[in-house]
Amino acid sequence: MPSISPAILVTGGTGYIGSHACVELLAAGYAIHVLDNLCNSRRSVQGRIERIAGKAITLHEGDIRDRAFLKDLFAVRRFDAVVHFAGLKAVGESVEKPELYFDNNVRGSGMLLAAMQEAGVRRMVFSSSATVYGETNTPPFTEDAATGPVNPYGQNKLAVEQMLADHARRHEDWRVALLRYFNPVGAHESGLIGEDPNGIPNNLMPYVSLVAAGRLKELSVFGNDFETADGTGVRDYVHVADLAAGHVAALNALDRLPPVRIFNLGTGRGYSVLDVVKEFERASGRAVPYRIAPRRPGDVAVSYADAARAARELDWRAGRGLATMCRDAWRWQQWRAAQPAEL
Ligand code: NAD
Ligand code: UDP
Repeated sequence: MPSISPAILVTGGTGYIGSHACVELLAAGYAIHVLDNLCNSRRSVQGRIERIAGKAITLHEGDIRDRAFLKDLFAVRRFDAVVHFAGLKAVGESVEKPELYFDNNVRGSGMLLAAMQEAGVRRMVFSSSATVYGETNTPPFTEDAATGPVNPYGQNKLAVEQMLADHARRHEDWRVALLRYFNPVGAHESGLIGEDPNGIPNNLMPYVSLVAAGRLKELSVFGNDFETADGTGVRDYVHVADLAAGHVAALNALDRLPPVRIFNLGTGRGYSVLDVVKEFERASGRAVPYRIAPRRPGDVAVSYADAARAARELDWRAGRGLATMCRDAWRWQQWRAAQPAEL
């Protein structure tokens, strides 16, 4: 490691996945500058990242769509790379407000890209999603599977992937890693950072956590008539700390990769909704009552990654299993519940 740590700009770094990535990047010796407008995260996350890592980070509060802010930020220091998490991610909201999602996610990423180009920063790791895969693929999904997102959020992800790929291929020395996450869950093992959704969660694991905590009455299991072993939907849940480590692996590999490279980040195995319920009950020692509800529109039966490329080219594997994911989600749930709501 050189005497001056390379500096990474982490957009969305106080958010769920970004905060865990900051911890891993700090452990790997990088200096961290976070850019976040705090629209879906809290200022206090900075202190908790620093407490876990035992190192300081710099938080720049602002928006990726603010050209003047970006210009000033890129003048602060020469960033070695940008890890780009900032974005809106609620699928349902993206259907309600497609203009907002396009503006924030696609135009925002374009503004960031332009600022990087102007400042001479040519390395980016981007948060994409397995939601870009079309519904006609047979799992496991390889990176070459057909794309075909079915909602504005997924379309935003694919649009940004394409914009970054076109840019990197046209401009010299660019390196972009497009990371397609499967289902990130869990929390840092300290229980100090985790997913903190506003209101009632849409995703399975945060919902199950609140049911186990007695704060929601029961889980609605969306369908038990899929063609799976127990009839409920199967997904590739990946521990957020493993996912965070995948960003460090991608960053470290950028220079030996082609200008644009897509990687699935998942474990390569699927668990059903009822598997998650059972494992969460074991981890928490609490009951998770549920009832069977109709299928949720747009849900596929089975989704899991072929994660071989990341293993081969990044030497990255998601080692933590479902029990650890549930244990850490529960630790976080308990820590969060003990804090004042405004924290
Ligand atoms: P998050 O909402 O917790 O974090 C996103 C962060 O970006 C938040 O802190 C928010 O305040 C910030 N942000 C949003 N718009 C911004 C803007 N215009 N300018 C500055 N900051 C802005 O979400 P997350 O779960 O940590 O997701 C991070 C990234 O990973 C997102 O791009 C998301 O789409 C992607 N992703 C998430 C999942 C998942 O299941 N969580 C799955 C696949 C991909
Ligand atoms: N799910 C469920 N009840 C919920 C939330 C989710 O049964 O309250 C199911 C959903 O149908 C899918 C799985 O849990 O089979 C994971 O859903 P999630 O929204 O967490 O992630 P997705 O794979 O849809 O992005």
